[in-house]
Amino acid sequence: MSSYTIAIVGAGPAGYFAAQALQNLQSDDLSFSIDIIERLPTPWGLVRSGVAPDHPKIKTVAKVFEKVATAGNVRLFANVELGKDLSIEDLKDRYDAVVIATGTSLGRTLGIPGEDLPGSMSAATFVPWYNAHPDFKDESVDLSTSTAVVIGAGNVAMDVARILALEPNELDPTDTADHAIDAFKASAVRTVIISARRGAEHAAFTSPELRELPKLEHTNVIIEKHDIDSALERVGEDIEKEVKNNLEAMALIAEQVPAGHERTMKFQFLATPKEIRGTDKVEEIIFTKTGTEEEFSIKCGLVITAIGYEAIPLPGIPYKNGKVVNTDGRVEENVYVVGWAKRGPSGVIGTNKSDSSDVMKLLVEDLKDPKPHTDIADLLSHATVITQGHWEAINRAEIAAGEVKGKPRVKVVDHSTLLHLGGL
Ligand code: NAP
Repeated sequence: MSSYTIAIVGAGPAGYFAAQALQNLQSDDLSFSIDIIERLPTPWGLVRSGVAPDHPKIKTVAKVFEKVATAGNVRLFANVELGKDLSIEDLKDRYDAVVIATGTSLGRTLGIPGEDLPGSMSAATFVPWYNAHPDFKDESVDLSTSTAVVIGAGNVAMDVARILALEPNELDPTDTADHAIDAFKASAVRTVIISARRGAEHAAFTSPELRELPKLEHTNVIIEKHDIDSALERVGEDIEKEVKNNLEAMALIAEQVPAGHERTMKFQFLATPKEIRGTDKVEEIIFTKTGTEEEFSIKCGLVITAIGYEAIPLPGIPYKNGKVVNTDGRVEENVYVVGWAKRGPSGVIGTNKSDSSDVMKLLVEDLKDPKPHTDIADLLSHATVITQGHWEAINRAEIAAGEVKGKPRVKVVDHSTLLHLGGL
């Protein structure tokens, strides 16, 4: 029987699916002890701080993560930062293999003038802010404008636009951060424009997300029919299934008569952002009609870019183009990468399951004789480690706080309160 120790850095979906894949690869001859190291005081990564709070079903995958975490061969070391509390060398020395699963948390930027003005921000800031990520609780999100523009035509842009355009009472039964619900209730935003640089046929939204928009009870959703007709003309007969489904879902929206609600979410296509203007903060955004020199402007006080993400480099790990340099998940001897840090920010949460499983099969193929096991605990005597037990106490407290308010949980944003709830 060979027994190996594996460190997984990052307790998000890709990390848990990697641990699950290793558990599934165990046999009478092969076993793993898995340590998951996480910078934040809480696990679950994007499931906690990325998934839109009005999509609770997507978050039920956390049950899978907890099953993996409590299967007996997994330990959680949360509130432990690689590069500060531990080095990658420490992990390489002590484990048979190291798996990087740290995702991509930096928002890509447009690189246009005015992008740094107050009132211009990335979805990489706005989304964790409304999702109670401790690092973003003090972000200033100015919702005093009547018009907001969201740049991008992917599901993140759609989440951001929808959350901004919802009747905020609809967020009451969700686990949206309390500070964000208060801000949305005081918000002056009534029109949210979601802006794509290409035509509707190239939008990266997925059709289930488009199909749920007409169900919004308090928001007009507007797509111009001519945008869909011209997209259909451009694609012609030979149309891919996904594009067809998307255009059908958008056509259904375009056919709707706006219901006269106070709040509106409007799609704009073929608009290339050129400049954000304002004296002390965002006042307007200038676009060109894509493919032409023709300019037009939208007066607005908030611009949120949702145009993709890049990985924040970890010291000691090679990065290029916003990803960890890798070949099929292999980074260097005994070091692997999974999830968005490996392939870039694409695919839904479930995509990480097969991806992590493929990489863990390679890891197992590469294994040599196990190293003598040296626990990392001695390296962490200075740190306040949140273990699975501490996390379960936090989880119970958040769920209990939610129960009395009719929410799935009330997420705690304050770092020291999280430690306190964990019993630390
Ligand atoms: P995405 O799907 O790749 O969409 C990015 C969008 O940004 C594209 O429309 C892209 O347009 C646009 N863009 C990129 N650079 C731009 C620029 N310089 N100027 C203007 N527009 C630009 O990325 P995402 O929305 O961040 O989502 C990431 C992944 O998470 C996706 O696979 C998504 O489906 C998934 N996700 C799923 C859900 C869900 O299932 N509910 C929710 C959120 C996210 P071009 O095509 O023209 O480049």
